[in-house]
Amino acid sequence: MRRALGGLLLALAVVTLLAGGAWSNHWASTSSGAPLHWADNDPSHPRGYVYWVDNTGSEWPVYSSAIAWDQASRLDAVYVSSESACPNTGHCVSVSETTIGDSACGPTLGQTNQVAYVATGHLTTSTWVHVDTACSDASAEKRRTIVCHELGHSIGLDEQTVGTSSCMRSPYIGPWTAPSAHDFDAIASTYSHND
Ligand SMILES: [Zn+2]
Ligand SMILES: [Zn+2]
Repeated sequence: MRRALGGLLLALAVVTLLAGGAWSNHWASTSSGAPLHWADNDPSHPRGYVYWVDNTGSEWPVYSSAIAWDQASRLDAVYVSSESACPNTGHCVSVSETTIGDSACGPTLGQTNQVAYVATGHLTTSTWVHVDTACSDASAEKRRTIVCHELGHSIGLDEQTVGTSSCMRSPYIGPWTAPSAHDFDAIASTYSHND
């Protein structure tokens, strides 16, 4: 059943992948404690779902990172190549290149704005992902890590401050280009309900 949208939208602080800095939580939540996630409010998607709309240049591996995140159980993460290709479901997230403000690649490498309903934690299409244009000529591994990291934020994950096997590691201390088993476990837990 489709319900009228109610409740306040929460624009969380923009989360960033930094070359320095400290973060703590591994899953983002709203002020009411609801973990951020995409709803499964579409009969064709029995699992939580998101469409990543790739507005970046070809040097950014959005497609391959989308494939990686889609391995998560109970999450349908779908790559689409343009806004016009994105179904009008309120689940489209723009992924684009932006000059974030530093002249070099860093300290900020990418940013994700997580926008969700306070009560449910359901993310909305106001969520967006930016990767720093200044990192366009970074190594392929670093670009892959940046994209993977920001896409992870856009499905609700927060920074991973310990361990070295996840692209959610922050601050950035090296190229870990893919999600970890821990990330997949966390997704399975957060998305393990029907809306
Ligand atoms: Zn981050
Ligand atoms: Zn839900």
